[in-house]
Amino acid sequence: MIDEKRKDWLRGAYLDRITEAGMHYAADHTHFVDAEWESYIAGEFSYLTELSVDDHSYLREQAGYEAWQRIRAALGEASKTAISKLHRDNDDVISTDASFAVGIGWLSLLHHASGRVRTYPQGWRARIVGGKEKLGCLVLHIACDYDARGCRSEVERLREEVRLRSLGICEICGENGRLRLSGYAKTVCDQHAAVMGEFREDDGLWADPWTWGDDAGRIDDLLAKGRAVMSEYPAESAELLRGMDPVRPRATQHVMDESNDPLRSTPIGMRIDDDTWSRQGREQELLIEFGWHLQDAVNGAAVKVEFLDGYVRDEVAQWREYAAQPLTESDEEFLHGYLRDLILEEYERIRIKQAAERNNE
Ligand SMILES: [Zn+2]
Repeated sequence: MIDEKRKDWLRGAYLDRITEAGMHYAADHTHFVDAEWESYIAGEFSYLTELSVDDHSYLREQAGYEAWQRIRAALGEASKTAISKLHRDNDDVISTDASFAVGIGWLSLLHHASGRVRTYPQGWRARIVGGKEKLGCLVLHIACDYDARGCRSEVERLREEVRLRSLGICEICGENGRLRLSGYAKTVCDQHAAVMGEFREDDGLWADPWTWGDDAGRIDDLLAKGRAVMSEYPAESAELLRGMDPVRPRATQHVMDESNDPLRSTPIGMRIDDDTWSRQGREQELLIEFGWHLQDAVNGAAVKVEFLDGYVRDEVAQWREYAAQPLTESDEEFLHGYLRDLILEEYERIRIKQAAERNNE
């Protein structure tokens, strides 16, 4: 072990070599991969025979930090440039203040979505207001007039199409990819898989994290470990969906027919839709506006019960920027309570289903 004083001295005396080693690695790597770095840096400072083994290890660590920072800055720059171009090319359909927390590999999907929104009737007032990565999926946020004929089903179909396609595209580079699980979930190609470190045992068994709610067998894992739970869904499916036409059938007529409403295709969505029309006033407005956000949030609620309040608060806070009008304190209070109850009910529904299945075995 070396003390802080020694570290300061080393950093000062060998700064040029630290910088050089980091810069060299960063120059031909788009991502920092631990294993690659280790072999690159292994003997890098050993020629400094006047230094101890601990000194060497400290210099390697500093060089790694330097490389990582440079790679991160370059990535941030590339992403900023690509996102401004996306805004510039699509300023008629993307809100000026829309933010996109996604890798540049998915930009083609955002361009595709923009093109589709451009074809919508003026009366829908549809605008892309943001997008983010969630459990390896691209979740798109679109503001529109849900009451306009045909609007809701088409907009939600587009969102789901983009989400499913993202599960077949590397978020980093745009090549063919699939959902992978290590300490976190991310959709990447074979080449970029290394970025994620060590994979979980069940990596490759799940292709769509959104469908976990239908898989009773995984709820124990969810509650026990507080991590994302994926349902069994053939891994090929995401690949098959890539490049295919939208996966949901188009309504034969542009008439809001409840049975064709995509929100009603899952038990949670159906529950939200029923609640929407049985309530009135501001509560109804909020459920109309945030129905899909609520469903996404329930599906993404892979948290232990004791973390639920924090999760609910964070989710609702993120919706502020998409709100048609500013959310008041009582709006948020309603959304917190509603979302929390819905998640607890969903946990319970799955637990009951699971118990029933065990009894049948
Ligand atoms: Zn890739």
